[in-house]
Amino acid sequence: MRAAITRYEATHQAMGTEFTLVAYGDDPQYLTAVGNEVFEEIDRLEGQMSIYKPKSELSVINRTAASRSVCVEPKLFELLGNAADHSQSTGGAFDVTAGPLMKAWGFFRGKGRVPANSEIAQVLRRVGYRHVHLNRAERTIRFDREGLELDLGAIGKGYAVDRAVDILRRYGVTRALVSSGTSSLYALGAPPGACGWSISLRNPYDSEKAANVIYLRNCSLSTSGDYEKFFKVGAKMYAHILNPSTGKPVENMLAVIVLAVSACDADALSTAFYVMGVERSREYLATHRDLTALFYQPLSRGKRFRRVMLHSAGLNAMGAFFSTSTDRKRGATRAEPARIRRRASSCHISGNWATAH
Ligand code: ADP
Ligand code: MG
Repeated sequence: MRAAITRYEATHQAMGTEFTLVAYGDDPQYLTAVGNEVFEEIDRLEGQMSIYKPKSELSVINRTAASRSVCVEPKLFELLGNAADHSQSTGGAFDVTAGPLMKAWGFFRGKGRVPANSEIAQVLRRVGYRHVHLNRAERTIRFDREGLELDLGAIGKGYAVDRAVDILRRYGVTRALVSSGTSSLYALGAPPGACGWSISLRNPYDSEKAANVIYLRNCSLSTSGDYEKFFKVGAKMYAHILNPSTGKPVENMLAVIVLAVSACDADALSTAFYVMGVERSREYLATHRDLTALFYQPLSRGKRFRRVMLHSAGLNAMGAFFSTSTDRKRGATRAEPARIRRRASSCHISGNWATAH
């Protein structure tokens, strides 16, 4: 007789957010043990990558790499290489050295503040991925100017999701959903009897409402939204995604969602596309594979927004993913047959942008 399939679900606080793991299997104790290992690894990564922990490897690099080359743990070195590649390929829209800018705008520990233009100009001298030098042969990092600070805030949570998926695969788990709060997730396989994991993307103006429902299988998704971290001065809103070329928060974008093969790439690119806007992202997608981007842009009056969905060139090699628009009239995405919707919607995750439905 075949064992019944059980559903495991657990949450874990780390990296300033709540990680969630949902997995299906036939042995609840086994799934719990695997889940514990996943969360231990996430804690280890936080201990290594956090800029809020003075003893983390990243904090040590930030303090010393301007005065000497610093040897980096292999996996972290790989991630820094990946971040450098994203910085280069996005023309610096994603910039792993945005740390000093975040501090100037009061997003690091403090309350938000608007720095004077002269201060921004000063801070920008300490920002720029071109000042970071990775020596692949020696696995070292060196900054060529004082005051540079790496900030993995736009890539670390996606990276942690990928490492979690590595562990799940290693232990033979084939149906799971891992998410790092409102940042990134990976949909491994599909829930029993469903074609994909049902993910509800929040309306950028109202976390209680869904803007789109997307079904994912063997695919990752990341969101960058102005509603995640922001402050207001009068009626003006300043959000936590900064344009490294101006040193100022990006305006005129509500949220960008990216689907990619890895959550690390999706995380970095959702931030990059948020900065780049629709047209520059379209150019990027024309020369890259296996990506989909969904933009929510504000319309001039009321709490209304426009959706733009773009796909990269070439075939998507990441397995099936498909989506439905909750607003049929706009027709931004093709509706899936009701049969798929019914089956997939029996499994969902909760969260800010992935609301239960
Ligand atoms: P979330 O933290 O919700 O996942 P993002 O993935 O968009 O959101 O990352 C935003 C974070 O990335 C900011 O809080 C900051 O730490 C950092 N950051 C802000 N602007 C940039 C940028 N242009 N390039 C790289 N990192 C950035
Ligand atoms: Mg990101």
